[in-house]
Amino acid sequence: ALILGLESSCDETAAALVTSDRRIIAHTLAGQEAAHRPYGGVVPEIAARAHVEVMAPLVEAALAEAGITLADVDAIAATAGPGLIGGVMVGLVTGKALALASGKPLVAVNHLEGHALSPRLTDPDLAFPYLLLLVSGGHCQLLLVEGVGAYRRLATTIDDAAGEAFDKTAKLLGLGFPGGPAVEKAAALGDARAVPLPRPLLGSAEPHFSFAGLKSAVARVVGQYSAQDVAASFQQAVVDCLIDRTRRALASVDATALVVAGGVAANASVRGALQALATEHGLRFVAPPLWLCTDNAAMIAWAGAERFAAGLTDPLDFPARPRWPLDPDAEKVRGAGV
Ligand code: ATP
Ligand code: MG
Ligand code: FE
Repeated sequence: ALILGLESSCDETAAALVTSDRRIIAHTLAGQEAAHRPYGGVVPEIAARAHVEVMAPLVEAALAEAGITLADVDAIAATAGPGLIGGVMVGLVTGKALALASGKPLVAVNHLEGHALSPRLTDPDLAFPYLLLLVSGGHCQLLLVEGVGAYRRLATTIDDAAGEAFDKTAKLLGLGFPGGPAVEKAAALGDARAVPLPRPLLGSAEPHFSFAGLKSAVARVVGQYSAQDVAASFQQAVVDCLIDRTRRALASVDATALVVAGGVAANASVRGALQALATEHGLRFVAPPLWLCTDNAAMIAWAGAERFAAGLTDPLDFPARPRWPLDPDAEKVRGAGV
């Protein structure tokens, strides 16, 4: 089957065409960094307007790149949440309109499911169940991915997401926006042992993550050390926390592989440390190529392909969901957010 995927939940607008046998036929993407840079972060209203301007042209460009029309597509997958509501609505409404006009089914995709299944797009051998570290701008979770639509959340952050910590650290260091790649670049020139920083919840019996204390500690040392040394020490602290929590989770599950996804998975230190942890456990390590880690529409089209193959399509009145947990049961037990 051939699936058209649409993404617009944060500050990337994207359209892609992906087949159920893992061929990426076309993918287009428009970032909004320049529009948000003066504000040091994503401004929801600016993001929504930018999505409106480029969504339809990106769909047309993807179809043109593939040399096909909507009639050749089997289903239309669009991110329906979680994310900034104005942006989510742009992609979802576009997907609904295209579905209505073409008579093709709509697949409403959870953006986090897009990240969670993205490693299977480029690795045909990745089988369920796998332990997934989902590290992005808004989330930091350990999930046992048992199948399409079957996600068991083992841990989450009790405060900031890992990507958020990278972005805030970049801001504190004056490294600009977006922060993750800037911190990684500065860290390459610094000494990771130069600045003493805390590792929140390291060794804790609780399964969860915490990064707020690390961010506050960074705020206190800014100016006392070089930006490169702070960046390197911060990045090492994040890696230590991610590895400690993932090691704890590995002990409690039977997984076929250790997998990382989400924007922070583009970080080479994070990938390297997880690879070593997997090797230590005799497990395969799987990470998507860098461009599939940060937001894109190929992962949404792929999640759409997986859902479509499982017979999961959605009605045209499917709502946009600013909040949409992958494992609702976990949130019921712990309460909102945690
Ligand atoms: P979510 O997926 O939780 O809704 P999002 O879609 O905004 O959030 P992604 O696009 O998946 O997040 O990831 C963006 C995040 O990844 C940002 O916080 C960014 O700083 C971080 N990031 C991107 N590249 C790197 C890198 N090389 N090192 C560290 N962090 C990175
Ligand atoms: Mg982004
Ligand atoms: Fe994302």
